[in-house]
Amino acid sequence: MQTVTGYFQVAAGKSSFIRKMFEKGLELKAQYGEDAVCDFSLGNPDVPPPLKARAVLHEIADNAVRPLGLGYCPNAGIPEVRQAIAGHLSAQQGMAIDAGNVVMTVGAAGALVCFFRSVIEPGDEVIVPSPYFVEYGNYCGHFGGVLKPVATNADFSLDLGNIERALTPKTRAIIVNSPNNPTGTIYTEAQMAALAALVDKVNATRERPLFILSDEPYRAFAYDGSKVPAVLKLSKFAVVLGSFSKTLSMAGERIGYIALNPALSRLDGGTLASTLILVNRTLGFVNAPVIGQRLAAAICNETVDLAVYKRRRDLMAQVLTDAGIEFIMPKGAFYFFPKAPGGDDARFVDLLLEERILAVPGSGFGRAGYFRLSCSVDEAIIARSAPGFARAAQKALVHG
Ligand code: PLP
Repeated sequence: MQTVTGYFQVAAGKSSFIRKMFEKGLELKAQYGEDAVCDFSLGNPDVPPPLKARAVLHEIADNAVRPLGLGYCPNAGIPEVRQAIAGHLSAQQGMAIDAGNVVMTVGAAGALVCFFRSVIEPGDEVIVPSPYFVEYGNYCGHFGGVLKPVATNADFSLDLGNIERALTPKTRAIIVNSPNNPTGTIYTEAQMAALAALVDKVNATRERPLFILSDEPYRAFAYDGSKVPAVLKLSKFAVVLGSFSKTLSMAGERIGYIALNPALSRLDGGTLASTLILVNRTLGFVNAPVIGQRLAAAICNETVDLAVYKRRRDLMAQVLTDAGIEFIMPKGAFYFFPKAPGGDDARFVDLLLEERILAVPGSGFGRAGYFRLSCSVDEAIIARSAPGFARAAQKALVHG
């Protein structure tokens, strides 16, 4: 058995790229001042929440003094909040979802951990198209799950052949994250339908089902008229996870959810739903924060000003183009995943650091040779970074 210290070292090692950049950023900001550093390393949303949040928080404050105003709530979430989120998801996913199939969680991260605790046996495998959000490995690893990254196509679209070849009798879930962190890719309706058909075909021959785990914290961030397909209705074995961290800029308030296809609950008599609620309690989450639940329920049909993110994306695209850096224009989320000039991502990120620009090497997302930029910063910072990107790219190419 792994010691506690051993586990910590493994988990810390896996996220060391982002940690390194985070620490480096703090150091540089302390040395040169906040304004001298262009920090594209973290995905912490900075656009203000919708205006209505203020009035809702006042109302919550008025009610907070009542008995149980801030008390424990049912492990699955406040009933009227589950109801509101079920209504929101019914419209979004194009199918009727009742509150019994929605569990409020501590962010999408808490939702992922609850899901893995509920379905993973040690040695089970979880497929993820790569590049990918590296925490997935830690989340399923807690319960002995093994993450199996599977390369996407050159344009970061799903390679269904690769996914099918990676399937084994131990595969328990396929994660899809669309719009994607780190690439900004949105998988098409046709690709998602083909994936669902593959999962249904596999499930016809097995006892323990294979799930599609659709991780959707960036669902609202879609540009140029792109549509993010609804996944839940595509298969009984589709599970949608999401949160309001990014869409409402309330990442610190930790509100997410898991939604199950009602057809699955009819099939298993509600076993997965009740297991998720139980593990939400026993993992120590107990219940998602009540202030955040009430806030999210009141404004779940709104979003932050997405036009701000669109302008940032367009400006960053211009900066990279002017610097001669190759990238695929992201259709969603707020990240770029360009090719590292010269091919060595760690080296290029170091060259950017010399320009006081913070980025994360693609190796930290399972794809060397690229780097990730998060546009959760003001347009002025993106504009200011332009000469630094150009100089770093030149140096990378000159010195190979
Ligand atoms: N999934 C992806 C792809 C993410 O990028 C993040 C956060 O950055 C999460 C899940 C976790 O989000 P939350 O704040 O809702 O826990």
